Amino acid sequence: MTYSIVNLVEPVGASEPSANYPRIPAVNNVPPHVASWARPPTIVVCQHAPISEVQIRSAAKFWQNLGYTFEKIRYKNDTVGACTSEKPWGYIVIHLVAKETRLDPEALAQTRFFVDNLTGKISWAAIHMRSDVRETVLEHELGHALGFLHFNRIDHVMNQKWEMGGWDTHGLRFNQR
Ligand SMILES: [Zn+2]
Repeated sequence: MTYSIVNLVEPVGASEPSANYPRIPAVNNVPPHVASWARPPTIVVCQHAPISEVQIRSAAKFWQNLGYTFEKIRYKNDTVGACTSEKPWGYIVIHLVAKETRLDPEALAQTRFFVDNLTGKISWAAIHMRSDVRETVLEHELGHALGFLHFNRIDHVMNQKWEMGGWDTHGLRFNQR
């Protein structure tokens, strides 16, 4: 089985984000959506993640309101071992950025998701957050974990630059895809 690793790093300032997805689709008038989940994923907030239970439920609700579903949210109660797994199949895991995480010092967060190239479906996703969690960042990272790439429209939640982003959800609704 082969995979594409989509590795998105969030820049604060002018530095370019890095993505190693082989081809980013020619951008149209909606955010590129490169893959989706075969079944609703479970979100696991790992022990040291700098996120409250209210924050993760609110960010999940943002996407639920757009038509996406999550199997479950596990808040700092990782009895399934997803946080320590190298390939947490079926899960979106959220970690605090660790020393060994390769992340630009200017970046706010990093999300990777793994796509099974046979099925085109997302197998798992990992989000690393800095302790300075700003408004819209968690929703933005969940957007990547759901298969969206950047969409550089002013005020859009998937804008690659945090200060240019906002709460615009154009093109993100599930039944529009
Ligand atoms: Zn991003």
